[in-house]
Amino acid sequence: MASEGSIHHTMFLLVVLPALLFHLGAGQPPESPGRIAVIGAGIGGSAVTHFLQQQFGAQVQIDVYEADRVGGRLATTTVNNQQYESGSASIHSLNLHMQGFVKLLGLKHRKEVAGKNAIFSGEHLVLEETDWYLLNLFRLWWHYGISFLRLQMWVEEIMEKFMRIYKYQAHEYAFSTTEELLRSLGGEHFVNMTQKSVAESLQGIGVSQRFIDDVISAVIRASYGQSVAIPALVGAMSLAGTPGNMWAIEGGNKLVCSGLLKMTKANVIHGKVIAICLHNSEKRPVYEVQYEQEDSIGSDFYDLVIIAAPLHKAGYPISFLNFQLPIQQPNGTYHRVVSSVVHGYLNSSFFGFPDPKLFPFSSILSVESPDSSFHSLESLCPVNVSVGFRRKPPQEAAVWRVLSAHPLDRKELKTLFKSYYSVQVVEWQAFPSYGSSQSLPQIIMHDGLYYLSGVEWAASSVEMSAVAAKNVALLAFNRWYELNEKIDQPDLMHKLKTEL
Ligand SMILES: Cc1cc2nc3c(=O)[nH]c(=O)nc-3n(C[C@H](O)[C@H](O)[C@H](O)COP(=O)(O)OP(=O)(O)OC[C@H]3O[C@@H](n4cnc5c(N)ncnc54)[C@H](O)[C@@H]3O)c2cc1C
Repeated sequence: MASEGSIHHTMFLLVVLPALLFHLGAGQPPESPGRIAVIGAGIGGSAVTHFLQQQFGAQVQIDVYEADRVGGRLATTTVNNQQYESGSASIHSLNLHMQGFVKLLGLKHRKEVAGKNAIFSGEHLVLEETDWYLLNLFRLWWHYGISFLRLQMWVEEIMEKFMRIYKYQAHEYAFSTTEELLRSLGGEHFVNMTQKSVAESLQGIGVSQRFIDDVISAVIRASYGQSVAIPALVGAMSLAGTPGNMWAIEGGNKLVCSGLLKMTKANVIHGKVIAICLHNSEKRPVYEVQYEQEDSIGSDFYDLVIIAAPLHKAGYPISFLNFQLPIQQPNGTYHRVVSSVVHGYLNSSFFGFPDPKLFPFSSILSVESPDSSFHSLESLCPVNVSVGFRRKPPQEAAVWRVLSAHPLDRKELKTLFKSYYSVQVVEWQAFPSYGSSQSLPQIIMHDGLYYLSGVEWAASSVEMSAVAAKNVALLAFNRWYELNEKIDQPDLMHKLKTEL
């Protein structure tokens, strides 16, 4: 039992001393932000809500505005009472923030169902995966020499450097620009990788043109719907995903977004933000968020605003009012990818297998050619995979997802499928249209106004949005409390080694 003396001592430390110091002016406790707005409830918006609460504490009220549906590009479509991923389908095993969310929310990895891949030239299959690992390696070597080994080493080196971000973020270091973040991971080389094409970078390390044309172009087309002219960094991200190291969430990837928003008890407002208006006050600026909800217009005031929505022209535009200097918005466009979820019988003859029973592939990637109407074709597993689940063989009706640049017309559908019961089409503004020498959008738009989604111009993926979310939460926190030694620190790798 504590003595009366020790209670008095504790009381003095807890209550009297801070008050005394406060009156003596020895240190005024800094005010925390009262209210924060997050615009967008995709993975970027839900992750930043969680990280902001981690930094600033549960007392800060966070409002999350969502114009459409929670999850954004993490979405499902329903066929025969089962849900299937129609947007982002797979996550890399090294995506540590996503792994962390799954654990935190008590979610589960979906059971993996093995399947084989092939690459289609528009006329015939140029590469076919078999059940035998060594035979696959031999075939790669036979066709392309050691190009695949060079590629593997290149991707591994980039991923190893990329993983440094988790250490920096665990030590609460933040970056004020995407360039600074990349520089801290892989020096100037990483920054240049956002400007140089993946084809040029791979040629530079001795990968053969044939391997680039047959294999790399098909993988990049399936991942980003674009060509090997896309920048090397985003190219490396898509090449890092091989069948054995990808996973998905039981019940649907979008469960992470709804789970994080529920856990943080964020106030989700189903409305479309149309404007952010600056109000200058004596201390810090205040931002008025104006939004549309059905037929009404509302507005509210915030200390911090995080935009976690790609500000492209085909989306929901946001006006910036009353700012002295114009707010710079990204000027690029997004690339359309159409996802058609087809329930039907595959036309295996089109791929050179007149007998469907002999067609062994669950996924076909297609290189760019005038004869090929699609980027990729994949037999889907439902988001809930039961213990006895098996992939339907092509002689049975199965659920396939076709990704393409435009909606498939009847003729194209009839080429790929003998017959079908249903087709569900989702048109996505999926990824930035990567051009060469695209500048990366700024993160700090104004004192308390941050843009999270600009990271997609460096590389667009679920984990990149989560990494950007953590960075923005740390940046907002460090800037609010003027912890400048935690922002844009050079040579962080070395600094952390000596600090530990
Ligand atoms: C078909 C497809 C396949 C993909 N496959 C993969 C994959 O396998 N692996 C992978 O890692 N990534 C994949 N991606 C990319 C991945 O889905 C995205 O990088 C990621 O989901 C982006 O998340 P986000 O939160 O940044 O943006 P979004 O998910 O787009 O979320 C932004 C949200 O903001 C809302 N919003 C926009 N403007 C406003 C406004 N003015 N007011 C209020 N709300 C607004 C939108 O409605 C949206 O919900 C794929 C994408 C697509 C389309």
